[in-house]
Amino acid sequence: MPTTGPATNWAGTITYGAARVHRPATVDALRATVAAADRVRALGTGHSFNRIADTSGDLVRLDGLPKTVRIDAAAGTATVGAGMRYAEIAGPLHAAGFALGSLASLPHITVAGSCATGTHGSGDTRRSLSAAVAGLRIVGADGGVRELSRAADPELLRGAVVALGGLGIVLDVTLDIEPAFDVAQWVYTGLPLDRMAADVDAVFGAAYSVSVFTDWHSGEGVAWLKRRADSDGTGPMPRRWLGAHRAERPHHPLPGVSPVHCTEQLGVPGPWHERLPHFRAAFTPSHGEEVQSELLVPRSAAPEAFAALRRLGPRMAPLLQVAEVRTVAADDLWLSPAYGRDSVALHFTWVKDTAAVLPVVAAVEAELMPLGARPHWAKLTADTPAETAARYDRAADFGALLRSFDPAGKFGNAYTAAF
Ligand SMILES: Cc1cc2nc3c(=O)[nH]c(=O)nc-3n(C[C@H](O)[C@H](O)[C@H](O)COP(=O)(O)OP(=O)(O)OC[C@H]3O[C@@H](n4cnc5c(N)ncnc54)[C@H](O)[C@@H]3O)c2cc1C
Repeated sequence: MPTTGPATNWAGTITYGAARVHRPATVDALRATVAAADRVRALGTGHSFNRIADTSGDLVRLDGLPKTVRIDAAAGTATVGAGMRYAEIAGPLHAAGFALGSLASLPHITVAGSCATGTHGSGDTRRSLSAAVAGLRIVGADGGVRELSRAADPELLRGAVVALGGLGIVLDVTLDIEPAFDVAQWVYTGLPLDRMAADVDAVFGAAYSVSVFTDWHSGEGVAWLKRRADSDGTGPMPRRWLGAHRAERPHHPLPGVSPVHCTEQLGVPGPWHERLPHFRAAFTPSHGEEVQSELLVPRSAAPEAFAALRRLGPRMAPLLQVAEVRTVAADDLWLSPAYGRDSVALHFTWVKDTAAVLPVVAAVEAELMPLGARPHWAKLTADTPAETAARYDRAADFGALLRSFDPAGKFGNAYTAAF
């Protein structure tokens, strides 16, 4: 079984403490590795910006396992290899006439890593990617495989999907699917932030999926509207919208970066998986030279949160590459940052200098935590893991679930220790 030395995260800002990274080629080899290890946990594509994927033992990557996408059309689900990237499952799903209802800004990330951290896209009706999970198969501490499903164990599954890698190595994931659909993407520049704060529903209800990019400093934003052909229509969009101007050339979220990295815009309809992410699978997503932080606040607090960020705009400016505002519908997964409430997700792409960025992240959080913000599990935060855990009503239940699955803490790290 191939093993390598210490690994880093995608951004190159973290070198994991794990001594070895295993890449088993078979499920039996994976189970044997887990059974033999004192401490072990799964690593996806390492797109997280903190030590959530780390362990003092060994890491296991699943991308050497056979890549499988098994569609059950009657059930409306597809069971996919947990270590597969969304980019790898989208093609087979689309070819069979199916789609996922939501995707993150990039398709490069694994299904298990995304679902373990509550990863989300955008849309007033769009829940987190984790909320599409209908079932999991998990390799437990003894190497045995345990199966959970929404039908058989609904409450257990609600605790087990956003599990931060703490319950074991997820082997495959069953996802809700729906008939394939087309999306047309339009970009509007010069959206007044005053307008966005005054009418959150008009901005974010304007299409199936809406993102607004801003620097919180200029008073304006750039809105990306992803219109679903079968519900929003395919006709041309007006030149002016809420005070913004329709873009006549493609854009990248980061000012000055080539839009060749981005999914097609200018209203050209295309398959769901080639429009819902901002970034194309074949290119580096975002910038590559960055760190990220993100807070999900209750949607009802959005105008207050926007006002606070505009006050902080000048302080953020020297370190901020771009910020993004998205909406996420409430779900019922215990550790989902959108648990129990419709949310506005406030994302920040910072320069790649964690030490310089952290004090500003702390200043943002000092303003937004009193509004009920919860940090993204996979990004930078000034919170300790215990402080983040305390932001969840079901934290104690999750702690009990962790101990029932993994009494010896084989899959544990600083994040799971907080419960
Ligand atoms: C450029 C960029 C854009 C991003 N855009 C978005 C976005 O649009 N929306 C958003 O919400 N987030 C976004 N993120 C964050 C990203 O979704 C998370 O970092 C996610 O965890 C990445 O998945 P991964 O496969 O890289 O997971 P990793 O970082 O490898 O791991 C994350 C966690 O999942 C666990 N894990 C991984 N695989 C398994 C498994 N098989 N079984 C059990 N546990 C497992 C790990 O142990 C760890 O705890 C972005 C990140 C980057 C770098």
